[in-house]
Parts: sequence; structure tokens; C-alpha cells
Amino acid sequence: MFSIGDSIFVTENSNGASNSGLIIGKSGAMMVDSTFFPSKAHRMVDFLSNITSKVLIYVINTHYHLDHILGNCAVDAPVIGNLLTKAYIERFDLEAFKSTLEPFLQRELKNAKLVPPSITFKNRIKINLGDKKVEIVKMGGHTPDSCVVYVWPDAVCFCGDLLFSEYHAEIEKESDLNRWIQKLKKIKEKPLKWVVPGHGPVGNVEELDNMISYLEKFKALSSMVKLKRVEEIVDKFGDDPILAKRGFALLFEESLANYLRRDKGAKYTGSHKA
Ligand SMILES: [Zn+2]
Repeated sequence: MFSIGDSIFVTENSNGASNSGLIIGKSGAMMVDSTFFPSKAHRMVDFLSNITSKVLIYVINTHYHLDHILGNCAVDAPVIGNLLTKAYIERFDLEAFKSTLEPFLQRELKNAKLVPPSITFKNRIKINLGDKKVEIVKMGGHTPDSCVVYVWPDAVCFCGDLLFSEYHAEIEKESDLNRWIQKLKKIKEKPLKWVVPGHGPVGNVEELDNMISYLEKFKALSSMVKLKRVEEIVDKFGDDPILAKRGFALLFEESLANYLRRDKGAKYTGSHKA
């Protein structure tokens, strides 16, 4: 577990799986994203009870993608999420999705249930943990319901999937890249010390610049792909560290295809990974 001081913890995943965080305040603890696996969310709760007597009082979902919310069912605390997140989760057919999974995943997720947020907000919500102030703000960009979670005075931002570090970003047909870039710039204006990505290791604000640059390059690349300017693409992006050094290479192709097809309408096809 990666720790920021002695009151904020984030999972360390060597495979780029979705992160989950714990914020421990004077009046209780909060979990940020419950991951794809109820068993993993459960381990987070165990970790919490091993290090403190503070009780988990809320789970926050940064957006509706299953790799951030499916663990909700393993946690005995109300879920806070955006109104849109709730609506997306409520209309998702989990059993149909499960039937498309590999048998070992079907076994693992046999008892998994969707638990939509029971505490909702439209644009932002503030939670006072005594010595910490937590603010959840809807941003959009990655998905229309994407939120970030600021924690003060620790100066930490849980960015959800607005930030991927060391891995390619998941870009869906419903992603709005201009808005995404604009919101990352907005986050950068805050006096932050740490940023927690949805996938990849915790970093400092430089990661926000990397992500802005990534999305700008992604946009430029996709317009070249559209025009089939292949040689130019290889020249310009072939060795570019912002693009070439990230994990999830297949996700990059998928994102590119999504982005190029986005005018044909958004459709959620299920979580791409655990
Ligand atoms: Zn996502």
C-alpha cells in the first residue's frame, strides 16, 4: 500500500488495475473507488481495521465504470456518487455482462451485485472528516459522470480515470477530450502535492502535464490516422515517450478506434479490464 502521510493510502498495482484509496479522518474513514473485485474491496476494509479503530463511513465512486464500483457490494458503508453515476449503474445489466467473462472471473464475481450510490450530488459535495475536508467535484471528460476527490489540508487529488500514469488511457466514444484537457488544467491550478490516478502509481502534479500532453498528442494522432498520414505518424509519434512508454498497448488501439467512431454515438460495452 502506498501511503501519503499516515492517513491516506492507495493500492499499489503492478498490472495497472484500478486504484482504490483510503482517507482516514478524525471522524471516520472513506474509501475512494471499490475496484472490480469485491474481494479486493474487502481487503481494503481489513487493512483499515488493522491500522486504526476508525470506521469506514463512506465509499466514493469516481465514475460508473465497473472497475471502480463493483466492489461496492463488499463494503458496509453508504456509497456517494454523482447523479449520473447512479443512473448509469442502475441501467447496467450485470448478469449479461458476467456471462461474457472468462469462467474464472465468473466464479470470482458469482455473488457480485451492483450497488448504486445512495447519496448523490449534481455538481459537487463536501464532506467534513473533522481534521480533513473532502470535496468531490464532477468534471466529465473521461465519462460524463467522471469526478475527482480533493482532500485538504493534505493537498491530494484522487483523479479517477481523468488521470492514467504509466498506462494508456481508456478513451470511450463518450469521452470528451477537449473537456478532459480543460478539466486537467483546472485541477492543475490547485495547490496540490499528490495526484492519485485511476490506474498507475501515485505521482506529483507533473503527471497532470503528462496527461494533458498525452491527450493532445492522441487528438493529433487520431486526425492523422483519419487522413491516413501513416509515415508522418511514425515520424512524429513512433518514439514519443509520452505515448510509447505506457502499458496497455491494446487499450490504445481500442481507444483510438472508439475516438474515431465517436460521432456514431456512445455505447458502453463493459469494463475493459479488472
Ligand atoms: Zn474508467
